[in-house]
Amino acid sequence: MIRIDAIEKRFDDLVVLRNITLRIEKGEVVALIGPSGSGKSTLLRCLNLLVPPDNGRLEIGKNRMVFGESSAKLKPKDLAVFRQKTGMVFQHFNLFPHMTVLDNVMEGPKTALKMDKIKARELAIAQLEKVGLSDKADMYPSSLSGGQKQRVAIARAIAMEPDVMLFDEATSALDPELVGEVLSVMKELANEGMTMIVVTHEMAFAREVANRVVFMRDGVVVEDGPAKQVIDNPQDDRTKAFLSHFH
Ligand code: ATP
Ligand code: MG
Repeated sequence: MIRIDAIEKRFDDLVVLRNITLRIEKGEVVALIGPSGSGKSTLLRCLNLLVPPDNGRLEIGKNRMVFGESSAKLKPKDLAVFRQKTGMVFQHFNLFPHMTVLDNVMEGPKTALKMDKIKARELAIAQLEKVGLSDKADMYPSSLSGGQKQRVAIARAIAMEPDVMLFDEATSALDPELVGEVLSVMKELANEGMTMIVVTHEMAFAREVANRVVFMRDGVVVEDGPAKQVIDNPQDDRTKAFLSHFH
């Protein structure tokens, strides 16, 4: 289970997250939607501590963090463990360009989990099979399509066996014909029971694959409910206005 409790984040005078509280059950798939600048990416970045929250509490699985005055006491080792429990997939892939596909996927298990090389290799191959790319293991990222790069990024993240996968517009930078292959890998992960938070503009995907849709605006959660209900029949006027752009 994930508890996001009273999370606040500001950048100088700009308040970006205001008292965000969400509880996400194991296996839930939450689509996070909202206009540009509403704080979706910042929330995901707070969850994996790329951007530490100013205040609030986070609990992911067995790991718990309290922010605020006690932030200074957070130990680097605890931060690293917490971060490992969240797999993140970005819009722009962020693969290591100087490493082969296989090495990209092996790197985390080898260095962060201290897995021996043979085991890490086996694990990486299994993850690449899962995303349909075991035949590309020895290639470099530069020779892959955007859709293939993103599937490697997913394989790399799941190789760490995270408690939750965070997707930040994973398909937004792709040519339209490549979006489907990435969404279908994400759908498969969801069907296997992976807990996922997915920032997306793909409303059809959100409606079909997510259990829940959370709509954010101006750093607050405006609406939160079953995916089909929020998308087909939004209650708040701000959600209605936002979704009207997609019909
Ligand atoms: P988009 O749909 O465009 O990706 P978003 O909902 O992901 O938007 P965020 O990227 O979380 O929005 O940004 C929320 C606000 O925080 C924006 O006003 C943005 O300019 C600001 N912001 C984000 N990161 C920083 C930063 N590192 N420094 C200063 N301001 C930032
Ligand atoms: Mg964003």
